[in-house]
Amino acid sequence: VDFLRDLPKAELHAHLNGCIPIALLQKLANEADLSSSAVSSDVVKAGIERLKAGVELNEINDFFGLFPAIYALTASPATLAEATRAVLAQFLESDPLAPRGQPMAAYLELRTTPRATQAMSRREYLEAVLAEVERYPPTRAALLVSLDRRMDASAAEEVVGLAVQLKQEGRRVVGVDLCGDPLAGNMADFEQFFRRAKEAGLGVTLHIAETPDNTHEDTLKLLSFKPDRLGHATFLDAGARDAVFSNNACVEICLTSNLLCKTASSLEQHHIRHYLEANHPITICTDDTLPFRNNLLDEYALLLAKAPQGLGLTRFDVERISAMSMASRFALPASRPTV
Ligand code: 5GP
Repeated sequence: VDFLRDLPKAELHAHLNGCIPIALLQKLANEADLSSSAVSSDVVKAGIERLKAGVELNEINDFFGLFPAIYALTASPATLAEATRAVLAQFLESDPLAPRGQPMAAYLELRTTPRATQAMSRREYLEAVLAEVERYPPTRAALLVSLDRRMDASAAEEVVGLAVQLKQEGRRVVGVDLCGDPLAGNMADFEQFFRRAKEAGLGVTLHIAETPDNTHEDTLKLLSFKPDRLGHATFLDAGARDAVFSNNACVEICLTSNLLCKTASSLEQHHIRHYLEANHPITICTDDTLPFRNNLLDEYALLLAKAPQGLGLTRFDVERISAMSMASRFALPASRPTV
């Protein structure tokens, strides 16, 4: 464990609202004003009541059922800031269990989808998150702005515009992401937005081929955006895999997430093996620590543990993977031209 704790690891694929510590959500639920108009729907009220009652998230569906409540609880700048602070601390502050207080991650690229709520605009959402991210030095934390596949063109245009604008104002936005329902949206409609992000010097990472139902066309369209990194990249056919190998985009691997979401049946069958065999850049990530109840150290432990509990890699391989994670950060100094 000491070997794993000492490795400098970059967490490059973590969703803010999927990584809020449950204890904080319960605190926010207890403090929530149930008569406020932000908490109007029955689903939200029921979710908040479950959090107050101390719900345990034992099943993935427990988490997805709570999502409307989680969003209601992070709908004001103050509660969003509190949630962001807790997520950053979870990854970046000294781990009390570590002998030398080593943090989970040396560096975190946190991603989130800006939401306009009754209490804030999308810009105010990003400002609240950025203010927390920027409490850490640039060598430790940065923000990725997520576009959701369910967004219509005007929302996607606004979100990418905000990412570009904030970067140009010198704020710590280093890239954009595409996430959300893997089967929603027509990816041809998104091309212009990712082109704009790239032209502005932002890194681009895309959730891609997450489910067996993602079409070859969808995958090829996304690859045509020339992303710098790929989220999951699980169900690539041979042609798409060749394209990924040739453009060298780093693949963000989320082992526990894939096992629990059943997109990988076992570690033996996991697509990480294709990338390891091809010596292709990868990075190990947690995705959503709240539902998956994982942490970055345990994800790395899966690399080292013998089969079938783990992948049985050598220390040398694991060291190489952690170095690849650090080398795949978007915030590397002077790594990307600005306009
Ligand atoms: P947020 O962007 O609100 O901070 O984080 C939660 C959001 O991240 C979810 O609504 C969803 O859009 C996205 N997300 C979290 N995990 C995954 C995943 O594994 N795949 C995809 N496609 N999206 C995800």
